[in-house]
Amino acid sequence: VSRGPFFAANWKMYMDPETARDYANAFELLAEPFVDDAYIALCAPFVCLETLSEELEDSEIGIGAQDCYWEPEGAFTGEISARMLRELVDCCIVGHSERRRLFGETDEMVARKVSALLAQEITPIVCVGESLEENQAGRTAERVTAQVVAGLGHLTDEQRGAIVIAYEPIWAIGTGLADTPESANATIAVIRSAAGGLDQAVMLYGGSMKPGNAEALCRQPNIDGGLVGSASLDPGAFAELIVNGLKGGDAR
Ligand code: PEP
Repeated sequence: VSRGPFFAANWKMYMDPETARDYANAFELLAEPFVDDAYIALCAPFVCLETLSEELEDSEIGIGAQDCYWEPEGAFTGEISARMLRELVDCCIVGHSERRRLFGETDEMVARKVSALLAQEITPIVCVGESLEENQAGRTAERVTAQVVAGLGHLTDEQRGAIVIAYEPIWAIGTGLADTPESANATIAVIRSAAGGLDQAVMLYGGSMKPGNAEALCRQPNIDGGLVGSASLDPGAFAELIVNGLKGGDAR
């Protein structure tokens, strides 16, 4: 990946192979006018990945997973390794706040997953972000810096340029209450300067990004695009969000 507009859908635990197929067909048509202007990926549940790779075989639209395990194979019931994903996906979300909060994913696990993905030439989309409590206590910069240092501090300079980071304030995810463009931009500037410098990494904002606020968010110099949950579940809304985000990016 190189710095440039990047929009990833996070479908979370929604969609099945049939609805994923319908979505892919509809979205491919909608995305035709702008598919060459941005890197776009659909991060889908594991069971949808094969269907998406068939449907999007001739398309520029990328495919992503939402998690992986770092060991290539073994007695790890229920897990899917980065190596198993290699043929199916271009990118993979790591360290989403839902996985950290509900499934105990730690920064150390994030670090291992990132290395496993890079070894398979899959782009990690690494999520960081502070809780409402941390935000209100003025600890946002400290929190995201700690996550970046612990999760990405082991990377080489070359690897730093091969990752995507999504700044997702936890209080903004699924709440309809996005961070302000200026505040998100300032926090992403902090992330860029952490762990020895991440100037080359693609930086996304995530947390209630919608068609209505994507332009203003993407006009900020540090915001290269979005990781989009709710608004990505409808192909029309996701397409509109990308069009508006690209307008913002062009204006900066
Ligand atoms: C997400 O879960 O990554 C996310 C950004 O969700 P939403 O867009 O619904 O806030």
